[in-house]
Parts: sequence; structure tokens; C-alpha cells
Amino acid sequence: MAVEGFKSNDLYDLGFNELREFIEENKPRRLLVQLPDGLKFLALNIVSLIKSIDSSIEVYLSSDPSYGACTLALEDAITVGADALIHFGHIECPLAIKPSIPVLYIPAYYLGKLPEKSLEKLLEEMHLSKDSVSVVIVASTQYVKLVEELRKVLENLGCEVIVPSGGPYPGLVIGCNYSSIPVGSSYIYVVISSGYFHATGLCLHLGIDARVLLIDVARDELINMSRECRKILAKRMYLVSQLINNPVKRVALIVGQAIGQYRPALVKLLEEKLKEKGIDVVKVVARYLSLNELIALDQGVKADAYVVTSCPRLPIDDLASFHKPVITPGEALMVVSESLKYLYPW
Ligand code: SF4
Repeated sequence: MAVEGFKSNDLYDLGFNELREFIEENKPRRLLVQLPDGLKFLALNIVSLIKSIDSSIEVYLSSDPSYGACTLALEDAITVGADALIHFGHIECPLAIKPSIPVLYIPAYYLGKLPEKSLEKLLEEMHLSKDSVSVVIVASTQYVKLVEELRKVLENLGCEVIVPSGGPYPGLVIGCNYSSIPVGSSYIYVVISSGYFHATGLCLHLGIDARVLLIDVARDELINMSRECRKILAKRMYLVSQLINNPVKRVALIVGQAIGQYRPALVKLLEEKLKEKGIDVVKVVARYLSLNELIALDQGVKADAYVVTSCPRLPIDDLASFHKPVITPGEALMVVSESLKYLYPW
């Protein structure tokens, strides 16, 4: 069940001041606004906000899914002649190529409070935990403002709390970067997010024994990720071990076309390592790779395995049912080094 008012317009910081400064500085005549699906209900509020700053600006909305700052809708912006892009819902990520038009990132932080039922359940879990507990708290972009609230609650309970710093915002995680998070078997990890995406990524990064709890804000549920993670990791390890034990002849390297998913250094590294093993490499550029597209591609490429360098979640979330191995860069590195120590994402 969703938290009442979860989708209320005034629960998100739409970055009015940043928007005004950006418009004053860049003086765009036409703007493209990009929102992740979960925030598309805010589209008309955002158009009104822009018009309240400068009513003469022509605003276009992008309908494509937006999974991260890695999928900037730059091509669409250029097609419609927009002089700037406003990307909502994510924080800027490093890009291999500089965007050709100005881009403003507005994270759209959630301004509500921690959902009550899941917080209650989390506190019960902490009371039940016999050892003195160290808790690592992280959150996806929208919910990083809730990290401090949870820190205070848990510290009042006597827990030692760690909020990883080192990213652009304390406690922030994105789906393919968990590098600032401490790893240790004595920690309980709490992820504040909506949906399983970030908590699953954290489990993949930490390994099979990690204790990861998800506060799902949209549903007001506390979810213990252990079972789900064991299932996913077991499947991934099986794929890797199959590829180590039955070496392949040809691999297709999927190269990201989206500006934040184009990773030339990683592609080069993987190509070299695969070729060193005597494996034939075919490089394929893809904006997004669905199961149907992969089936069509496979008819021509006939690779024995596919390595996706664009988004490491595609092989795990979207392409796992393909009849040939589709693996992440980390898994490909495990295969070439014949290692069974799980590596996510690269
Ligand atoms: S996990 Fe995929 S969608 Fe998310 S930031 Fe990384 S590349 Fe982008």
C-alpha cells in the first residue's frame, strides 16, 4: 500500500532557485524537461514553475524513461531545437563527453518524513538484534534528506551509525556506484528508496551474506533483502562459473550510446582482456537493449555471450532470461581472470 500523500506535488523540492538562476544565466528560448517515470506526475507543475520565471520560454517534455543522469535526453533536446535541458530526479554523473547544450540537474528531493510503519518495524529489528549494532544508512537520490532523520532515531536507540560520505551528498547511492560504502560482516545496511533497485545493487556489491534492509518509502514497507539477494547472486555465480568452465569463442561487447553510459576506457580494457584469451570480440552500440532487440541482434552477431558495458543492471534485471549468457563488466572480468569472487559492477 502506498503512503498517503506520497505523490503529493508539494512533497518534492523542484529547485525553484536553481531553475531561476539557470534560466537567467543561459536565457533559453526553448527547454526540454526530462523526468523519471516516478516523477512524471509533476510535469505540469514544472512547466508552470518555468513559465512563472519566464513566460516566453517554450517547454517540451520528454516521455522516454529516464533511469539515471546517465541517460540524458540530449539527442531529443537537439532534435526539437532546445537550447538547454532540465533533468529531474538525479544528481550529475561524470560523462566521457561534454554535453553540447547546458544541462541543469534538479534532484527533486523528497521533503516528507520517514514512513511510520516501516520505521516502527526497523526499530523492532534493532531491538531484536542481540549484538551492539552498527548501521550503515544510504538512500537513493530522492530520499537522501531522510538519512539524517533516520540517523538521529537510531543514535537515540544506542546504535552506532555510519553515513558514507565521499559522494556528492552524504549517504547517496546510485545503481552502479557503491564505492563509498564500507564493507563488513558486522554491519546492518539500511537503504531508503522506493522499489528494490538500489537495495539489490547494494546486495550485489556486498555479497551473499550481507544484511540489507530496505525502507520502501512508496509502499511504507520494511523489506529484508537477504532471500532475494541470495537468489540473484546464485544465478549470477552460476553464469560466471559456466563461462569459466566452458570457454567461449565470440563475445559481443555492448557499448552504451547514451552519453553517461558510454565508457570507452572500460570497453577497451574488456576488449583487450578478452582478446588475450583468444576470444573474438564484436562491438555493438546500443542506446537501450531490450530482450527483443537482443534476440534480433543475436541472429546476425551469433555471439556465445554478451557483455553489457552501458548499464550493469540490464543483464541482471532485463536480459537474464535470454538463452545465452548476458553479463556485466564485473562478471566479464571474473571470467577472464577465472575468479569466483563476485565483482559488481566493474
Ligand atoms: S545503474 Fe544503470 S541507470 Fe543507474 S546510474 Fe548506473 S548506468 Fe545509469
